[in-house]
Amino acid sequence: PRPGSSPALQAWVDEIAERARSRLGTGRVADYIPALADQDPERFGLALCTNDGNLYTAGDAGMPFSIQSLSKVLLLSLALRTHGDVLWRRVGLNPSGMPFNSLMQLETEGGKPRNPFINAGAIVVADHLVSAFATPSKHLQDIARTLSGNPRVLIDHEVLGSEWRHRARNAAAAYLMKAFGNLDNEVDEVLETYFACCALRMSCRDLAVALNYLAADGRALTTGERFVPPAMAQRINALMFTSGMYDAAGDFAYRVGLPAKSGVGGGIVAIVPGQMSICAWSPALDASGNSVAAQYALERVAEGLGRWSPGAT
Ligand code: GLU
Repeated sequence: PRPGSSPALQAWVDEIAERARSRLGTGRVADYIPALADQDPERFGLALCTNDGNLYTAGDAGMPFSIQSLSKVLLLSLALRTHGDVLWRRVGLNPSGMPFNSLMQLETEGGKPRNPFINAGAIVVADHLVSAFATPSKHLQDIARTLSGNPRVLIDHEVLGSEWRHRARNAAAAYLMKAFGNLDNEVDEVLETYFACCALRMSCRDLAVALNYLAADGRALTTGERFVPPAMAQRINALMFTSGMYDAAGDFAYRVGLPAKSGVGGGIVAIVPGQMSICAWSPALDASGNSVAAQYALERVAEGLGRWSPGAT
């Protein structure tokens, strides 16, 4: 990726970032673990990466933050790449309509999580990776580095430790699934992998570049290689569209109309298939757990997209 070559597009990105700043001060920073509670709610970053490798950034787009649930997209891509569709015997494809860390459906639905983007679903995906790789979280870190082109992408050990100390609910989900026979490996090992992936630190720039393969039929921008087959990229986008934004996926789909995945660190990645990947970040969240200012920025991006699509005059 190189700095964007269109001054008009850069001006538009700057304008959206400026307007999104007016939304700072609304919402609350995640405080379920102490390591996230001290994030600065005044931060805002935006990065837009076109499929031809132009990168447009504004605000704190280069500042690394805790990617949290955004890692679920990488986890899923890697598991599907490694195991293919057998994954769907153990994880569902439908929105849960429940909080991301809910245990209720797990008990009534035989330990099969509704989708790979709620915690229980991502824990099953992590279990697949523990079976397939000797050091799965390091493998995911390497993939995040390669896809983003940034060798400094790191797992934040303070966040990892904090997740581990406050793991009761995720551990409860994992044990319940283990009891139903839906976890092959030891609970502790699977949880540690899941938390390590959540604890990756990446910037808006890193994420827009790294997840560009979802906009580009599965082809990674930094290597030019196919990271996932085109049909798989399409299906991951479909899951992001239906389940990527916690309980508010329907609201977000209505307002923005793009596949997107959100994390409690305040990052949201959205995909414009065939065109570009976008990451917006600001730590303060609304009641559903989605960043207030990042959602606002993505709404503005979606509104203006027609002007920037290939062939638009
Ligand atoms: N590490 C978080 C958890 O497991 C992920 C939360 C999120 O970003 O949705 O609770």
